Amino acid sequence: MKRLVFAANWKMNHGPTDAEAFMRSFLAHYPRRPDRTVLFFPPALTFATVQSAARGRSDIVLGVQNIHWEPKGAFTGEISAPIARDAGARMVLVGHSERRHLFGETDEQTGAKCAAAVRAGLTPVLCVGEKLEERERGQAESVVLRQLRAGLANLEAQHVSTMLFAYEPVWAIGTGRTATPEDASAMHAVIRSALRETVGERVTSLPILYGGSVNRGNAQAIVGARDVDGLLVGGASLDAEGWTAIVTA
Ligand code: PEP
Repeated sequence: MKRLVFAANWKMNHGPTDAEAFMRSFLAHYPRRPDRTVLFFPPALTFATVQSAARGRSDIVLGVQNIHWEPKGAFTGEISAPIARDAGARMVLVGHSERRHLFGETDEQTGAKCAAAVRAGLTPVLCVGEKLEERERGQAESVVLRQLRAGLANLEAQHVSTMLFAYEPVWAIGTGRTATPEDASAMHAVIRSALRETVGERVTSLPILYGGSVNRGNAQAIVGARDVDGLLVGGASLDAEGWTAIVTA
């Protein structure tokens, strides 16, 4: 059975009070299902609230939205991979387009962050995706492959084979414009074929999620597309009722 992954990236939304109400409603309406895993990436200060609400639900896995590549030190405002792991995080988003394009995160830094995550026992969810102008210039695949290779540059195949990946075209994030299921499938196939070079046949079990303006209306069509193993959702994951509808799509 294909186990689908539904990931909620709350970005800079939901403090502990909102998160507690969200989780109460979500857990009341979403019983565990054997064919899906639900991931939450809350803001760091909300992490403990979501963790405590989800205790006992092994189908719900928590991660952080970002880490620094150094394990500790004088980096005011940053969170290291060992700290995230110690707090109970199992995953981390790396290379989200907002980190890349609003905060200037480079390909090399995503590579260093993936390596730091693995060293600390966190699973990186490596996000890749092209900008609109890159797609229009016919560079979508080359940009995605460059980001993918840079993210994996410091990792062994054994680590890559435990990771998750997300294709998130920048032009679709928070814009209301989503990739068609066919476009998503096509890029997922490109990513899977590139990953096969590193991990061989283990590639068939690597989850590749789609992200970019997914909502309760389009989730089912996208998650049903070939080579799409789940969804990474920002805006539409903030409302408990809407998120429940997406994860049961
Ligand atoms: C995201 O932030 O990863 C994302 C996909 O956002 P949205 O669903 O709001 O487009």
